[in-house]
Amino acid sequence: MPAFTTPALVIRRADYSDYDRMITLFSPELGRIDAIARGCRRPKSPLVNAVEPFTSGEFQLYQNRERFSLEQCQISDSYFELRSDYDRLRHGVYWLKLLDTAILPETPAPDLFITTLRALAHLNYGEMPPELVTLAYELHFMRLSGLSPRMDACMRCGRAIDGDARFDVELGGTVCLNCRSDAPFISNGARRIIMKLPRTPFDKFQLVNDRPEWPEAARLFRDYVNRRMHMERFAPPLPEENGHNENL
Ligand SMILES: [Zn+2]
Repeated sequence: MPAFTTPALVIRRADYSDYDRMITLFSPELGRIDAIARGCRRPKSPLVNAVEPFTSGEFQLYQNRERFSLEQCQISDSYFELRSDYDRLRHGVYWLKLLDTAILPETPAPDLFITTLRALAHLNYGEMPPELVTLAYELHFMRLSGLSPRMDACMRCGRAIDGDARFDVELGGTVCLNCRSDAPFISNGARRIIMKLPRTPFDKFQLVNDRPEWPEAARLFRDYVNRRMHMERFAPPLPEENGHNENL
């Protein structure tokens, strides 16, 4: 396929030469595509807006052996509000970093693609606190990557868990309070959020906002995501927790 068109989201860009840039696209059917955008840094280039991170649309590409170049783009959304709101932007940048870590060439990920666009719409246009949208995105992202932690049984003794527990990132799930563990405590409410919400649509996350345990779930799950994805500890701020007792 020398020339083809695909829907995609720009997740990264880097200057390449005086007038060119390399961009990384996330395509639902083709996965990661690194492409050169020739001339896009010239002021009058039609590609000038197409090479910005968060731009989504229909991208027309040309393939020559292993190399891709961007020919044209029909932008469908630039998520423009993000760029003027530093707090929301930091959350969005973190998501793109997650995608950059996870997406592979020639590996379709249509569900993750749709989920990402939906989440970006909430982050850009919605009313939910950005910390909550990020928790929602992380939970969906890890499920779609096949990396959800086990939250309903003890990773040591195998018994079902139906209450407070510990959350062991290394073991990939909960440890019951009868087993020895130095892992952090997790309340039943936070445990249930991490268990149930990866399958809850984004517009229902508003309900979680009223639950006092979601900041705890956000903190514990952030740690899980960063360690599983081998990410450095750069990440947007976490929601504030009402100082309840962490030590059982
Ligand atoms: Zn146990």
